Amino acid sequence: MSDKPSRKPGWSWPEGDLAPGERRDMAIHATEGFSGQALEIPIHVWRGKEDGPTVFVTAALHGDEINGTGAVREMILDPGFELERGCLLLVPVLNVLGFERHSRYLPDRRDLNRSFPGSNSGSMASRFAQRIFEEVILRSDFGIDLHSAAVRRTNYPHIRGDFSNPEVDRLARAFGTEIMVDTIGPKGSMRRAACDVGCPTILLEAGEVWKVEPTVVEVTHRGILSVLRSLNMVEGKPHKPEFRIIAKKTAWLRAEAGGFLRFHAAPGEIVEEGQTLATNTSLLGREQSTIVSPMDGVILGMTTLPSVAPGDPVLNIGRLRQPIERIEKKVDNLTQDSLHERIVSDLSSSVMVDDLEDKPDPA
Ligand SMILES: [Zn+2]
Repeated sequence: MSDKPSRKPGWSWPEGDLAPGERRDMAIHATEGFSGQALEIPIHVWRGKEDGPTVFVTAALHGDEINGTGAVREMILDPGFELERGCLLLVPVLNVLGFERHSRYLPDRRDLNRSFPGSNSGSMASRFAQRIFEEVILRSDFGIDLHSAAVRRTNYPHIRGDFSNPEVDRLARAFGTEIMVDTIGPKGSMRRAACDVGCPTILLEAGEVWKVEPTVVEVTHRGILSVLRSLNMVEGKPHKPEFRIIAKKTAWLRAEAGGFLRFHAAPGEIVEEGQTLATNTSLLGREQSTIVSPMDGVILGMTTLPSVAPGDPVLNIGRLRQPIERIEKKVDNLTQDSLHERIVSDLSSSVMVDDLEDKPDPA
């Protein structure tokens, strides 16, 4: 556990302290609208029966990334566990201003997730960040921040974190996704600022914007519960994934020509160096070029929009650090109803992904 002094206990609020075992809806004063009316961040505070660490779970720091909002709502309505120890702070929407406009950004186009830790004399974004930092981060010992891919992209659920920090590494493994990406996080991001003050924080990237996707909610719920179990806040053992890929190097594979794509790989798939991942065709279906994997890797995310211009990002790939055969063997052993297989099929169900062999080029 962190040795950071908790400035305010998770369960102590101006409206009154929560009793052991109590859950309550609260609100954080975030900023004010043009009308001068208070804008509040809704928060559900759940105090465990006994003392223990405080964990925050936040969503929609980017206001359009609402998969996490759905997951947090489900956790409030139907957690499926008893909180034995500690305190859980559940925040369905951090960026209430972006959320109101279905937008990633704040009304001044600033990115709230590049504004941490913030200050109470800075820009609107900076002040907003400061309120969140004060009321959520500084109350917490550990954190989980829920995100989705940017507009017109989707991500296979993976945890990102600075794994050089042993506590972040432990938290990320406890969450139990098959894929983890080792990154320190951009300057000004909430997770980096939280880690800097001794609140180890991980980030989940999963699914698309503007959607609450069932398998994303499922993997999010399983991960949060698993983290709480690893911290001894909930009874039971943490989830162990069937396989684990920890990518350090990631790359965007980009379109070299304008055209219309046929995809041959889906998010979450393991791909070999030299494998054709997408075919760039003319509108009449003639092959113009292909996008080939430069490495043995895993598809972290992809565009969902088949029409591309030169330079457009198409597939985000993470490099494997272990022999591909070892991973492939474990994936082959998974059943169709495993969560991994269901997520891969779910995320690509609305995008046409075909095997190369299935479709010969037109004569
Ligand atoms: Zn995001």
